[in-house]
Amino acid sequence: MRNFPPSCHPVALRHAGPGRRGEAEARPCYAVAVAAACRSPRPCPRSRHQVFWIHRMSKSIISDMDGVIYRGKQLIPGAREFIQRLIDTQTPFLFLTNNAEQTPLDLRLKLEGLGISGLTEDNFITSAMATAMFLKSQTRKAMPTAYVVGGAGLINELYNVGFSISESHPDYVVVAKSQTFSFEQIKKAVRFIDQGAKFIGTNPDMIDPIEGGGYEPAAGTLLAAIEAATGRKPYIVGKPNSLMMMLATRKLGVHPEEAVMIGDRMDTDIVGGLEAGMSTALVLSGVSSRASMEQFPYQPDYVFDSVADIDPQAL
Ligand SMILES: [Mg+2]
Repeated sequence: MRNFPPSCHPVALRHAGPGRRGEAEARPCYAVAVAAACRSPRPCPRSRHQVFWIHRMSKSIISDMDGVIYRGKQLIPGAREFIQRLIDTQTPFLFLTNNAEQTPLDLRLKLEGLGISGLTEDNFITSAMATAMFLKSQTRKAMPTAYVVGGAGLINELYNVGFSISESHPDYVVVAKSQTFSFEQIKKAVRFIDQGAKFIGTNPDMIDPIEGGGYEPAAGTLLAAIEAATGRKPYIVGKPNSLMMMLATRKLGVHPEEAVMIGDRMDTDIVGGLEAGMSTALVLSGVSSRASMEQFPYQPDYVFDSVADIDPQAL
């Protein structure tokens, strides 16, 4: 019983007829029930037995990136090997990031620059993609418009679903983290929302971890400023909104209970995964610490120092 198919375990030997008793025959006989579950029955070398292979039912992995795979531009030790384990074990996986600044191509190239290969753009969902998909599903206009406080990643996704970027009575004001954010942009966003534009945020994160252990302000701080000025609350698409989780499980083609959400934040990754019905794994390589974790009224199913400690087939 060598050369097991990836992700499969031998689960039973079916006794195919009378014969001498031996080690193989001492194994449990699951007969029809096991046979129905098996993917590829093979003849046993001993000829009077049949080996059944069953898919181990390892869960699909949905993983955050910032604070999990890297901090800023710095790879987290063990992340490369973790991704290689996902690939080697053929574990279905998807990176789900609240980062709206970068496209899936940007993210793939960023990981390649950090020495991680073997990924495609299909391995990523960003909050910019989720926001664009959500807005497309919401509008009945042939040429919907948006004013964007955010980067090229968000603007590209909106273009891709048929939106025009406009500063003349836009239908939506869409706000994400922006490296070029200005007071002028706040003024325009506030004015358009006062005129009736719907207020959308890509993600609620107040801070993002950066290399060296610090952090920087994120989309939530910009949303807070505009909310304070307008008195209007944004609808936020990114984690922990279960909309984002639903898009991820749908893309993987699995039910939520067949997936594990791995993240570094109790207030987005873990609560989002929990509310979507997934198992959850907190890694302590980003924002949340063990001490801050214990202050939340909900807890993850697993806690790891980093992805270096995660065996995807053991979850
Ligand atoms: Mg994170």
